[in-house]
Amino acid sequence: MCGIVGYVGRRSCAGLLVDALKTLEYRGYDSAGVAFFHDGIIETVKAAGRIQNLESKMESRIDVETHCGIGHTRWATHGGPTDENAHPHSSEHISLLHNGIIENYQELKAFLIEKGYTFLSQTDTETAAHLMDYYYKETGDFLEAVIRALHEIRGTYAFGIICKDEPGKIICVRQENPLLLGLGEGENFMASDIPAFIKYTKKYLVMEPGEIAILEADRVSLVDFDKNPIEKEPLVVTWDYEAAEKGGYPHFMLKEIHETPSCLRATMSPRVQDGLVRFDEKELPDHLLRDARSITILACGSAMHAGMVTKYGIEKLCRVKVDVEVASEFRGRPPLLTKDDLVIVISQSGETLDTLAALKMARACGAKILSIVNVVGSSIARESDYVVYTWTGPEIAVATTKAYSAQIAISYMIAARMAFVKGLMSEEALRDFTAELMMLPELVASLVERESEFRALAEQYCKYEDLFFLGRCLDYAASLEGSLKLKEISYIHSEAYAAGELKHGTISLITDDVPVIGLVTQTPLMEKMVSNLREVTARNARVMAICAPQAKDLLEFVDDLVVLPAARDELMPSLSVIPLQLISYHIAALRGCDIDKPRNLAKSVTVE
Ligand code: GLU
Repeated sequence: MCGIVGYVGRRSCAGLLVDALKTLEYRGYDSAGVAFFHDGIIETVKAAGRIQNLESKMESRIDVETHCGIGHTRWATHGGPTDENAHPHSSEHISLLHNGIIENYQELKAFLIEKGYTFLSQTDTETAAHLMDYYYKETGDFLEAVIRALHEIRGTYAFGIICKDEPGKIICVRQENPLLLGLGEGENFMASDIPAFIKYTKKYLVMEPGEIAILEADRVSLVDFDKNPIEKEPLVVTWDYEAAEKGGYPHFMLKEIHETPSCLRATMSPRVQDGLVRFDEKELPDHLLRDARSITILACGSAMHAGMVTKYGIEKLCRVKVDVEVASEFRGRPPLLTKDDLVIVISQSGETLDTLAALKMARACGAKILSIVNVVGSSIARESDYVVYTWTGPEIAVATTKAYSAQIAISYMIAARMAFVKGLMSEEALRDFTAELMMLPELVASLVERESEFRALAEQYCKYEDLFFLGRCLDYAASLEGSLKLKEISYIHSEAYAAGELKHGTISLITDDVPVIGLVTQTPLMEKMVSNLREVTARNARVMAICAPQAKDLLEFVDDLVVLPAARDELMPSLSVIPLQLISYHIAALRGCDIDKPRNLAKSVTVE
């Protein structure tokens, strides 16, 4: 987590740095800070809390003449969210910012204290500043000092570093955590993510682990940790600056829900040819799907819930066993994979650290890796044998919406293509499936248009402090995502339960103060779901059902009913998720929550 930015070039950049930080605030918002060259010294301004606090402190400095600086927005790992712990951290000659964790910081700190250094913060990061300073004093060479320190630092990191004696130069280092270089005319940028520089340039380089970049106004050079030069081709951003703006919506989350229909088109259309789902041989060859005997899905958070949807889809259509593993749990024990296994990795950012580490373990077992990722060139994409990009453009709100929808759309496509190449689905059946799939954007749009209905429901449910989501099979997978959405943005405690399991203990929690949202979209399971909802009604719970049209008549007894448009069972999670997202959104809005930046969270989880 943490957002990093750096600028060197012809513009005066104090305001630019603060603005760029605003575009990265989704990555962490415990504190923010900048350091920039002015009148021969490095000035540092930092403030605990949101970027507005930094902005207020910067009021008198925003127009100072400075052509090189760095900025950081923090998601604290070591030390609380205070001014002192905010980055940049400085030593006599060096100022730097860091994303990641320095694992051996205590050992390094002890060494540096012995050498006479004084520590002002509780962070792991400050050791890196002093260590680089220590080697700078020894060598008098900025790059050499950085490299010597890197050889001693253990952990995960991306750094942006400036040296008092070298105004106009930023040294950028990437190990695990993401770092991009924006390439302009007479100016260059460093940033954790594209929105920080897209206003100024669309040309960029993706730094890879083990790379160091020396950034100057009209030059960018890359070397490895042994100073061997590295050459690489720039990429070009394919979306516009407006995509990273709110565009009149009160929150990015709402904007992104509204973008779901067009995202689904962007995700699916290129993978349909002559009315049939078909992947490009390079992104996902048919033989990979034909040969798959068992599949393991690795992911975290909402992407893991997308993995659950994928599991039910593939198992139903392809009769192939699919295990879904929380990436951090998978990492905790010896993997049981072989070269015959197919591993599907799902991540919006492509940088989720636990998922990346789990992927590497699976790879070491010889398993083939197929990833479903949004960010082009991200670490997970690079480490995979095959990548299916979701192409949803930037997702800024911490709570994912459109990217989750795109992930599950890809999962249906994979399941259908797999069933076809395994001979379990005829060409005609695949054609019908594809036609229904391509109706999804329209059906989703019809649900987004019903926002006022979901807002009215939010008004009814926003007063509760506990809530249950119930569903069976695919509806259970969808409930998991509905529950997470509500928890993360509204802070209401909720649980998603497999509906048949509730009576084995947990039904004791159901009272008239604990409402239940039941999903009833799976044709063969409808009657059982109806019985489960009757059971909670009998315990006086207020019940909302979100159902397929054919279940409507069975559900007259519930308090609130959302009837979805008709679609085949396998595709229903794409529809039920829209009311779930919009109800959560409006509950959070009614409760006055900070929807795009929920407490304690950050997007793109790049720490363990
Ligand atoms: N470990 C650093 C700190 O706590 C950086 C944290 C991060 O990258 O999220 O300040």
